[in-house]
Formats: sequence, C-alpha cells, structure tokens
Amino acid sequence: MRRFAIAALLLAPLTLSSCAGDDSVPSPTAPPTLASTAAQPQPIPTPVPPATFLPTAVCAPGRLTPAQTEGPYFKTGSPQRITLIEPGLAGTRLIVTGYVVSPDCRPVANARMEFWHADAQGSYDNTGYRLRGHLFTDRDGLYRLETIMPGLYPGRTRHIHVKVLPQTGPGLTTQTYFPNEPSNARDGIFDANLVMALQETNDGRLARYDFVVSVSP
Ligand code: FE
Repeated sequence: MRRFAIAALLLAPLTLSSCAGDDSVPSPTAPPTLASTAAQPQPIPTPVPPATFLPTAVCAPGRLTPAQTEGPYFKTGSPQRITLIEPGLAGTRLIVTGYVVSPDCRPVANARMEFWHADAQGSYDNTGYRLRGHLFTDRDGLYRLETIMPGLYPGRTRHIHVKVLPQTGPGLTTQTYFPNEPSNARDGIFDANLVMALQETNDGRLARYDFVVSVSP
C-alpha cells in the first residue's frame, strides 16, 4: 500500500506541472506539499498558486534522476545533521524536502544524502563544514534539510549539490536547481529536470525534489 501512497504524492506535482504551459487557471487544490504526511514535523505551509511549481520526479521504469558532476568542492566527512544553519550564518531560510524512491516508486529508506552548497555570498567552505552535511531518509524515503538559499558564483546558476547513497545500489551524484532563475539559461550544466518545486511560506522558502535512484534487490 505504501507504494501507491508514494506514487500518489509524486503525481501531485506532475499534474500541476501540466498546467504550466497554458493560460488556464490551475486548480487551487492539492499543492504538492508534504504537510499531510505523518513524518512532516513542521506546520502546514501557506500554499501559493500551484502554477509556480515545476515538475520533479517521474517514476517510470528505467527513468532515473539525472546525474551531474560532483564539481570541485565536495568534501568527505561531513557531519550528520538535519540543519545546516549555524549561529551567525546569513541568508534566506530554505527547507529542502522530498522523497527518495526507486524507479518503481518504492520508498528508499535509510539512504544517505550528502548536501553541500555555497553560502549567500557564493563561497564554499573548503576548510571546514559550513553548509555541508548529511542525513538519512526515513522509512518512507522522506528527507528534510534546513539550510539557506545558496548564493551565485561566477559561471554557475543557483544550485545545491547532492549525493544520494542508498544502502544498496550505485548511488547518485547530482545537483538541484531553482525555478525562475535568470542564470539558469546561461549555465551549461543546468538541467531543467533537476529544478525543485519552490514555494514561499510564512516560515521561509520550501523546496521539494524527489530523487529516483536505482537500488539493488
Ligand atoms: Fe557548486
């Protein structure tokens, strides 16, 4: 039954995204938030018009979240934590959340997820672990990271680096992106399939991305 529940959740942004290219007024129902799940500890975010949402994962046999370059700034040994916000850190609060699922939309529990990104000024911490961390998906494949909006640096659009490492399987290294960023079109690495759904809430920005990764039986 869980498989179908996950599939239903993943269908929500896909349904909404189908409205993005026409002029019809999208239905105000069922924004693709995770607030209705038991594992979501935060208050229900204030919905915004679903037309602002872009597609995330598509569960189809053989269709995986695209891999992208790790880039030059990955560091091993990041601390396990669910928030990258530390005292004195400047920036706009951002929650990144979603599911890790297999290509047949089954939840991938206990997958290690590494996150690293630039600070609000576009700089990486290459000596310590500021804005670096890892966490594990829960039994439903759900993850939730608290951080800040990454800044821009020369040659790249706004992005977050991610590794998704299931208990079994090859793992995925990729990057996620933000919608409506002017620099997306000028970034040769940017992939529209990796754009997060983003909404403003009373508690900051909420981004959702569902990762589809291969797992070994
Ligand atoms: Fe980067």
